[in-house]
Amino acid sequence: MSSFKQFNLTSKMLLAIEDIGYKSPSEVQELVIPRVLKKESLVVTSETGSGKTHAFLIPIIHSVDTTNNHIQAIIVSPTRELAYQTYIFAREFVKYYPDLKIQLLSSQIEKSRSESKIDNNPHIIVATPGRILDLGVNKTTTNLSMTKFVVLDEADMLMDSGFVNDITELLGHLPNASKLVFSATINSKLAHLIERFIGADHVIALENMTNSKVEHYAIDIRHQSNSDAIESFIKIVQPYFLLIFASKKETVNKIYEQLKQRKYNVTILHGDLEKRERKNIMRRIKNMEFQIVVCSDIAARGLDIENVSDILNVDLPKDLSFYFHRAGRTGRFYKEGKCFTFYNDDDLANIIKLQDMGINFIFKVLKNNEFKEGKALKTKVKTHRKIENQELERDIKKAISETKKNKVKPGYKKAVKNAVENVKRKHHRKMIKENIRKERVKRYIEEARKNG
Ligand code: AMP
Repeated sequence: MSSFKQFNLTSKMLLAIEDIGYKSPSEVQELVIPRVLKKESLVVTSETGSGKTHAFLIPIIHSVDTTNNHIQAIIVSPTRELAYQTYIFAREFVKYYPDLKIQLLSSQIEKSRSESKIDNNPHIIVATPGRILDLGVNKTTTNLSMTKFVVLDEADMLMDSGFVNDITELLGHLPNASKLVFSATINSKLAHLIERFIGADHVIALENMTNSKVEHYAIDIRHQSNSDAIESFIKIVQPYFLLIFASKKETVNKIYEQLKQRKYNVTILHGDLEKRERKNIMRRIKNMEFQIVVCSDIAARGLDIENVSDILNVDLPKDLSFYFHRAGRTGRFYKEGKCFTFYNDDDLANIIKLQDMGINFIFKVLKNNEFKEGKALKTKVKTHRKIENQELERDIKKAISETKKNKVKPGYKKAVKNAVENVKRKHHRKMIKENIRKERVKRYIEEARKNG
């Protein structure tokens, strides 16, 4: 079994790790820690729950010089909860590093207070993207010349945060710092950022983006209402600790109200909760005071909630990459877990896309309060094509019927022909775009394999 000793860390760091309770490094830690110690820049596409936070915290804290009172590492986290969690993880080392100053800069903390804290010269800053400019990256008074590390955690989500320019500006001010990018997926915005600041030769892709001990179930609910299906589901599965995901806030609220009325031990987590209320709920979730948590995607991203035995997706997220984040809430640190997804005929194309992305679904039908064996979906490529052709046919029919409104006008036939050509061109472009996306991901993974 590998050990943290293999990284030549100081005995102080080894004691701190032992005190936290970690016996051996996880796969991502084994790959990342030695490279960060060598000040390399990296892009890591890793499983959620794989121990990635400590993969960067351990070598960063090891490398900080506490006699030098300058900002030496900046960690950017997409949400305040995740920033807070990383901050708490980092604070656990302070017992062994009493001179280490860590500052949390998030929207939870008033600006004036956070500014005065920066004046105290912390060594490590954990910030949400909206607070990056508070670091004074564009002020001559702020000294970032000693900053050795910048971490972009859950970077694909950071790219969607609306602060891409601020992040780009920050990276531009730190040409000599190691850039550490952690992301479950690489979207095109992120790919650009990587190409500009890091280069694809530093990509480490861990084989599976999902934990192999998690079983994935696709549940055909045969057009039952969500509320009926959820209640049957809970009766059948009898979950120990269940997270229910829905894409829309209204659905999250509705499910929560329904379960509360039925006297389930349930709570809710969504983006609109008051800060204090949310913190309080998080504390109670960690104390295992609830059996069921109903959440939106944003609220749950990256959160370290332990012991989740089951996940239920009452719908599929609009951005399918969120499926991986939802599923990643269970099976944390290689424990077992189950991720269930309700579907109807309309969702088939997305279920197939997920299969293409590597999810091995077990198919079930929920009927008369029972799970019956479901039929696996046909060969991916063929079904994909069939669905694409069906979509094309549908769009052509729609375009023709719209043009038909002008049937009496001259040039009608030509207009129909043009409309059909337009639809075909659009579909063709869509397929090309999709192929480029797939190729890009494939290229990153291949390059990462080549580089070990
Ligand atoms: P993360 O992927 O950073 O969200 O971490 C997921 C969970 O794994 C957290 O609860 C960590 O405390 C835990 N963890 C991280 N590294 C280790 C390790 N080497 N041994 C055991 N647990 C770990």
